[in-house]
Amino acid sequence: MNMNSTDVLVIGTGPVGYSAALALAQSGRKVALIGTHVLPARDGRTVALLDGSVNYLTSLGLWDAISATSAPLSVMRMLDDTGSLFRPPPVSFKASELGLKAFGYNVELTDLVRVLTDATKLNSDIVRVHGQVLNVNFHNTGDCIVTLDSNTQWSAPLIVGADGRNSVVRRSAEIAIKEWSYPQTALTAILSHQRDHDDISTEFHTREGPFTLVPLPGRRSSLVWMMERSRAKYLASLDSHAFQLEVEKRAKSMLGKMVVEGLRGELPMSGMLSAAFSSGQAALVGEAAHLFPPIGAQGLNLGFRDVRSLAIALSKANVPNALRNYDTDRRADITLRTLAVDLLNRSLLTDFLPLDLARSLGLLTIASLPPLRRLMMRRGAGH
Ligand SMILES: Cc1cc2nc3c(=O)[nH]c(=O)nc-3n(C[C@H](O)[C@H](O)[C@H](O)COP(=O)(O)OP(=O)(O)OC[C@H]3O[C@@H](n4cnc5c(N)ncnc54)[C@H](O)[C@@H]3O)c2cc1C
Repeated sequence: MNMNSTDVLVIGTGPVGYSAALALAQSGRKVALIGTHVLPARDGRTVALLDGSVNYLTSLGLWDAISATSAPLSVMRMLDDTGSLFRPPPVSFKASELGLKAFGYNVELTDLVRVLTDATKLNSDIVRVHGQVLNVNFHNTGDCIVTLDSNTQWSAPLIVGADGRNSVVRRSAEIAIKEWSYPQTALTAILSHQRDHDDISTEFHTREGPFTLVPLPGRRSSLVWMMERSRAKYLASLDSHAFQLEVEKRAKSMLGKMVVEGLRGELPMSGMLSAAFSSGQAALVGEAAHLFPPIGAQGLNLGFRDVRSLAIALSKANVPNALRNYDTDRRADITLRTLAVDLLNRSLLTDFLPLDLARSLGLLTIASLPPLRRLMMRRGAGH
């Protein structure tokens, strides 16, 4: 079998894997980036990159290319549409309150990954290896070795698992996980509409989960609509015309007539949290380490923070110490975001009055106390 060696193996060619390869190559390491190298399908999925991620992508020299296809999120509006007895009034958070032009920018996942892919092609410290990793062998004293389906092997003293929710790196490192599921599916689509969105992202909180419209360039928005599984199946089976009417109705026609552009997505919702974010020679980043529903635009932003933290840890210590420091550094941020998203989602799904009251009071308190409001906005923007 053909054996190759390098400084770091990054497994997985999603947005987090590409950014990990770029960040580690920037620090002078030779990186083998292993995966399918196929762009994600254009299925209406966009990602809102919050201010912290924008700064990070700027530091990698990538933001100008990404911003060309993105739209700013200047206002985040939340409307309670649960029919709850304790329904709070609509709440709007403005980026200008923090002195920012925008909380972040919304971009199609395919466009983002294309920019990251192009950057790895131009980087002479990154070797792009095509293939699936079948297994990883760890040796306490030497390099770890990965075996690919192409009958090749790669070895390195450090491996980064950016290989998503079913991570083979995580399994091979025998890192335990906690997994759970939600009775919901998210429908995604890109819609053009009659009225301007004015750079406002709107989240309706409904009993089925959040219904969110996020601005895209022009009179266009992306939709993330979480709902009970059988209803999602029904709505997904509708033709575009019938589907867009349902969306327009749910949005209370606030953006006028809507037309679906291209393909729509249908994603069952689940959650996962890794018991550790590193072990021996392996670090886990992105959805290999944590997974939760798309509420509050947190998942990929958290993944980029993993990569940034790992790169900083490796710049300050040898591999074993850096990986231990990385695990400690990421614990609070990942655990808190996972819990917050889980709690908000579950609080919508129940009509248990005390929980309804707590959610409403929580939102009202945040909205009406300026210091708390600014703190929550900063945390939300990934600072
Ligand atoms: C509807 C929706 C909306 C979202 N909106 C937002 C948002 O607004 N903001 C935000 O921050 N996040 C958002 N997210 C979350 C975000 O999309 C994810 O966190 C992010 O895409 C995960 O990237 P990743 O690179 O960690 O994983 P993935 O994109 O899953 O990449 C994993 C990669 O590893 C590869 N792989 C797997 N196994 C192997 C193997 N054995 N060998 C080689 N390669 C392998 C896969 O092929 C894949 O390319 C959203 C998610 C959903 C579902």
